[in-house]
Amino acid sequence: MSGERPFLIFGAPQIEDAEIAEVVASMKSGWLGTGPKVARFERDFAAYKGVEHVAAVNSCTAALHLSMLAAGFSPGDEVITTPLTFCASVNAIIHADLRPVMADVDPETMNIDPARVEAAITPRTRAILPVHFAGRPCDMDALREIAERHDLRIIEDCAHAIETQYHGEQAGTFGDFSCFSFYATKNVSTGEGGMVIARREEDIARIKMLALHGMSRDAWKRFSDEGYKHYQVVECGFKYNMMDLQAAIGIHQLDRVEQSWLRRGEIWRRYNDAFADLPLTLPPPPEANTRHAYHLYTVLVDEDRAGISRDAFLNAMTAHRVGVGVHYMSVPEHPYYQQAYGWQPEDYPHAMRIGRQTVSLPLSPKLSDDDVAFVIASVRDVIG
Ligand SMILES: *Cc1c(COP(=O)(O)O)cnc(C)c1O
Repeated sequence: MSGERPFLIFGAPQIEDAEIAEVVASMKSGWLGTGPKVARFERDFAAYKGVEHVAAVNSCTAALHLSMLAAGFSPGDEVITTPLTFCASVNAIIHADLRPVMADVDPETMNIDPARVEAAITPRTRAILPVHFAGRPCDMDALREIAERHDLRIIEDCAHAIETQYHGEQAGTFGDFSCFSFYATKNVSTGEGGMVIARREEDIARIKMLALHGMSRDAWKRFSDEGYKHYQVVECGFKYNMMDLQAAIGIHQLDRVEQSWLRRGEIWRRYNDAFADLPLTLPPPPEANTRHAYHLYTVLVDEDRAGISRDAFLNAMTAHRVGVGVHYMSVPEHPYYQQAYGWQPEDYPHAMRIGRQTVSLPLSPKLSDDDVAFVIASVRDVIG
């Protein structure tokens, strides 16, 4: 079966002429770095989410790091997050001099379990960092209630959740801060990029300053036609700003965010129908009165039921020239966290099991109907 078909790249972004032309226009304008296109992308993103205070940065990891700095915690304070996430969620906590604490996921929803969060709270706990896994919203009613009762901040990792809504509210508006990713595989892509939403204007001002070396407000305008302006360094900041070249892509990706979401929803339902009779666990159906972002379509391969191990399934799909992903081996599977925090996968059994069984199938809006049919036939071939 291999040979003729090009390899189906997992998470390939759909790049169209509009963003190509916008990038070319940026190149020709001579303004490559942070400038008017970043400002426009920020305005467009804020309008899409219905919020006021946003800051574009160069990754979600940077967004998380700066959010935790702006939250004003003290070194060694604890932040509770999920073991079923990308390492960046945890690393950002560590970079901010804070201590990550894991609370296991709900085995069905794969999102952080509020009861486990509550059990992990100590006098040093300052924040909860929920991840809306695969684009499915966390139980924000319960998390918000816990946060209020224990005076904790909420920092949402919305890397999968641009389009997500929960009980009529937008993901990213529950937290004091929320962080989005525009990495190549994400629902809106700028290659690399990120965005922060903050509830308070002064927090976004501090994040913008920290993202550009700690230079005083609007330092990026110092080379504009308004005349040279001196800046002051008021904190030891970072180099986390987004470039106009990235925003040029993002503006048009964001224009098509709903169209792409509809297409992924279609693919999602086709997979559900096609795999209903297979010995696989399909993604949990979206909860009522919520909107799933359809970022990842994950199936669980339980070797006892499926007759094939997860890793053999990954290899067989790759041999069929279908790119697949793993989201994620649980955080405590990695040696760094075992050594630094003494975590063991068995301590978070639901995340461990999911991490050892999960496979993400291609869900890019770039997939043609023929591609989708090919993925379905490949899965049926491998499992059948
Ligand atoms: C992709 C991702 C990140 C990191 O995003 P970057 O923009 O690559 O820094 C963080 N958290 C989750 C859940 C992600 O999927």
